[in-house]
Amino acid sequence: MKVRVGINGYGTIGKRVACAVKAQDDMEIVGVTKTRPSYEARLAGMEGFPLYTATPDQVATFEKEGIKVAGSIEDLLSKVDIIVDATPGGVAEKYKALYEKAGVKAIFQGGEDHGLAGVSFNAFANYNEAWGTQFARVVSCNTTGLVRTLYPLDKVFGLDKVSATIVRRGADPSDIKGSALNSLEPSLKLPTHHGPDVQTIMPWLNITTMAVKAPTTLMHAHCIIADLRKKAKDQDVLAVWDNVPRVKFVSGKDGIKSTAQIMELGRDLKRDRGDFMEIVVWQDGVKVVGNTLYYYQGVHQESDVVPENIDCIRSMMKLEPDGMKSIKKTDKSLGIGK
Ligand code: NAD
Repeated sequence: MKVRVGINGYGTIGKRVACAVKAQDDMEIVGVTKTRPSYEARLAGMEGFPLYTATPDQVATFEKEGIKVAGSIEDLLSKVDIIVDATPGGVAEKYKALYEKAGVKAIFQGGEDHGLAGVSFNAFANYNEAWGTQFARVVSCNTTGLVRTLYPLDKVFGLDKVSATIVRRGADPSDIKGSALNSLEPSLKLPTHHGPDVQTIMPWLNITTMAVKAPTTLMHAHCIIADLRKKAKDQDVLAVWDNVPRVKFVSGKDGIKSTAQIMELGRDLKRDRGDFMEIVVWQDGVKVVGNTLYYYQGVHQESDVVPENIDCIRSMMKLEPDGMKSIKKTDKSLGIGK
């Protein structure tokens, strides 16, 4: 029998996780919730996902707009084994008690604090920590990006100190509220929360971060400086990333000099929605000087956490004890990876 999954919050992350669940053979979507009878609610129906409202009083509003709903969140909770909560940051807290009451497991996203779940998740770094738990949190897009490249480096070379500057996309492409068109906005609360968030998965890592919001919607870019404990050459570092999942190389020499070209590559590769779920490292932008490694990476904020949610479901539902097997299965089903 397949694991029954519900999605609360069918937005940027929720709709992508729903489609990724649909691509698996060991889990299925039982329903998704919407707060308003928008075009996305209609599209959920076209994907074959039964629609539920976020609160019981919304059922009539949807029906008035000609959108059929199967009930509200409480009805959905009575039919699922696990819920992926992809509501906007800070909202999930009010749903946690509802999930507990229904005896349903829940995955929260990076907009929530670590404390809400008690377990923060990245498939390659700590798959087993979510094994059988009731709650887990898939860390944010930026934290996922940092952990994907830093964790394997730490395993092989050891990391003494990491400093990262995060150039953040100002808004997602569909966000019409967005950030300013012509400004760079530094985060003035320093160091930024991204370092401590990485430490929810790698508590031993000495990492500090800064961030600047930029007028782009496409991706985040990370500029990372890491002190290695063991001596390594550029090629040794590249060889480590070449052997781990969900890290992909591009090269400026090859014509991929920017996040715009990475997104074009995603479309050319006919990736679903043009998404790029791997963390993208500029191969010719990797340099070791003495013991210090410098590199850049691109993070597609709308999609890098999607495969992590799938593996998190497998770990929490005890579907696959071997994290690497789960990662490979997920990546194959989504057409990503090496
Ligand atoms: P979003 O705004 O695109 O989608 C949120 C969805 O939740 C929308 O469909 C909205 O209608 C719905 N919603 C709003 N209030 C609700 C409520 N009270 N009950 C149920 N549904 C409600 O947000 P998003 O970008 O998908 O972010 C969701 C989570 O994922 C956040 O924790 C965010 O921090 C995290 N995340 C976002 C990104 C990103 O770049 N977009 C990347 C990684 C993680």
